[in-house]
Amino acid sequence: MKYIGPHVSASGGVENAPVNAHKLGATAFALFTKNQRQWFSNPLTETSIRIFKERCKELGYTPKQILPHDSYLINLGHPEKEPLKKSRAAFLDEMQRCEQLGLDRLNFHPGSHLRKIPEEESLKIIAESINLTLAQTHGVTAVIENTAGQGSNLGYTFEQIRFIIDRIDDKTRIGVCIDTAHSYSAGYNLKTPEGFEKTFQLFDEIIGFRFLKGMHLNDSKKEFGSRVDRHESIGLGTIGRKTFEWIMKDPRFDEMPLILETPDEKLWKAEINLLRELSTL
Ligand SMILES: [Zn+2]
Ligand SMILES: [Zn+2]
Repeated sequence: MKYIGPHVSASGGVENAPVNAHKLGATAFALFTKNQRQWFSNPLTETSIRIFKERCKELGYTPKQILPHDSYLINLGHPEKEPLKKSRAAFLDEMQRCEQLGLDRLNFHPGSHLRKIPEEESLKIIAESINLTLAQTHGVTAVIENTAGQGSNLGYTFEQIRFIIDRIDDKTRIGVCIDTAHSYSAGYNLKTPEGFEKTFQLFDEIIGFRFLKGMHLNDSKKEFGSRVDRHESIGLGTIGRKTFEWIMKDPRFDEMPLILETPDEKLWKAEINLLRELSTL
């Protein structure tokens, strides 16, 4: 079974996210459980948590169909002590919010070295940040997203992600989310049949499909290997719709949230329908 849906708004409360997803005919959704541009947000209220759970049940969204995303401010590989501490505290709060909502995974960007320390050192800090958080939480898997490698962002190669996973104490609670636009920008050529096969063969060899807990389905505004992160609506970018057809027909992407983070929300409903059609072509 393929679960498809966009990153929906949770404005007015997390309990609005499943409703927003349902309106679009989505069978999956992503959300922020707090304001993603602020360090501090009020705790989730009991009422909000209760209604969120009720609505998910009513509208047919189980945890494997939901992929919460953490705040963009968090840098788990920060080279400096104080900002790292702040990031780790915020990440713990995000994981706890997922726990409270009965969700089983949290998607995050690994972190950035800010050109102040070597890549490997920052990757080790990221692994330690994840270990510290997993030790203080239960039932939520930390899902590392691959990046385009823009600026000093880490996680743009499968090897870097493997390097982090190798250092995680509880391997049952670490996962990966592959973003198609990020992969393409980072130099994984998903556009050709051979490139697509090769990319996911490498993914399986280096990381392993057992770690795959979700996908971000985005076309890209930027050229192959550009290392720039700019999403485009499905079929309108440099990747093209064929790649999404291969994904939709491939059982390795079953039973996980397939999330659209595409820029034009007026197209979301059509994109969901297009992806469904592609799966049956
Ligand atoms: Zn993404
Ligand atoms: Zn992106």
